Amino acid sequence: MTRVVLKEVTKRFEDVVAADRVTFQVEEGELFTLLGPSGCGKTTTLRIIAGFEMPDYGRIFFDEADVTFKKPYERGCAMVFQNYALWPHMSVYENIAYGLKLRKLPKSEIDKRVKEVLRLVGLEGLENRHPLQLSGGQQQRVALARALVIEPKVLLLDEPLSNLDAKLRLRMREELKSLQKELGITTIYVTHDQEEAMSISDRIAVMRKGRILQIGSPIKVYMDPTNLFVATFIGRSTLLRGIVEEVSGRRVKFKVGAFTLDGRIAEGFNMKKGERAVAVIRPEDFSIEFKKASNVIDGTVKLTMFLGPFMQAKVKIGSQDISAYLDPELKLKPGEHIRLYIDPDDVVIFPAEGWEELEFEA
Ligand code: ATP
Repeated sequence: MTRVVLKEVTKRFEDVVAADRVTFQVEEGELFTLLGPSGCGKTTTLRIIAGFEMPDYGRIFFDEADVTFKKPYERGCAMVFQNYALWPHMSVYENIAYGLKLRKLPKSEIDKRVKEVLRLVGLEGLENRHPLQLSGGQQQRVALARALVIEPKVLLLDEPLSNLDAKLRLRMREELKSLQKELGITTIYVTHDQEEAMSISDRIAVMRKGRILQIGSPIKVYMDPTNLFVATFIGRSTLLRGIVEEVSGRRVKFKVGAFTLDGRIAEGFNMKKGERAVAVIRPEDFSIEFKKASNVIDGTVKLTMFLGPFMQAKVKIGSQDISAYLDPELKLKPGEHIRLYIDPDDVVIFPAEGWEELEFEA
């Protein structure tokens, strides 16, 4: 198993810095995801790791070996592309065997490995078909089989599920995760889909404009975002603008219109009294409360949407709106007055700087 280290990797295309001092370490056997909006530099970073792109600055290591200037075929990586890039004139078998033929393996060894990998990805019996005679999901499996058959040290996956329909995407996500764990190959995964990233990854690196903003486990980046962009890009959240009224250690009293909420300062920031700030609250952290006297806000239901396990209510709080996931059994109606409680630990306060830009992006 291989550890992958990027140190200060930087790549510029004319006036765009696609990768800006990108630094991270992927542990042996880990599934590590680069997550961010379109154009943030995920694919460029992956292509640099594969050796298809040279960085302007920085270094890439596979274990102790510096591979920065190695040719792609000398690195032992396999990459699965978003469009699969299968050869249409070759059968499934030939597509998968191709990489082994290039490596001049004996025919019997090629046959053994192709059959093994066909079984692994559930494509037995389809080896004589051509890519155009396969469904999207089957083509995706061929692309994965072609990558796995060379027994790569590092597997690179660029949006591998984005061409599949929603249901198949969920199934392939599970299959990919269990296959990756079974084989224990160090894997770097690229996606712009935050839910996919959270469900599949051991750790996630959130990128924006060529930079890595936060690296952590899915739970960590969801619960403790260190940046307003990460807080809004991962999962759903409500932003409430207000003023810091009081600071005591990491706790604050935060004034939102007519209400004052107890909250906590986001990791890595300091705040002072009188500062403009933004509270980030997850919709699932609101609850209907009759007994609590503090951390309660009053509002009027504007809209409700039934989402199965919960009811999403859009609630007007003073001049702002919030989204809350509430119990469908409450049968809330537009125009109804409600009181919502939030635990102070779930009110995460960030400096207001840059929040308008975020709303615009979202
Ligand atoms: P997407 O999810 O849309 O593929 P991404 O996060 O993978 O986006 P990249 O493809 O890495 O982003 O692109 C990062 C930036 O670099 C973008 O602004 C893109 O236009 C630019 N870029 C990438 N490749 C080139 C290139 N070969 N020439 C010029 N600009 C490029």
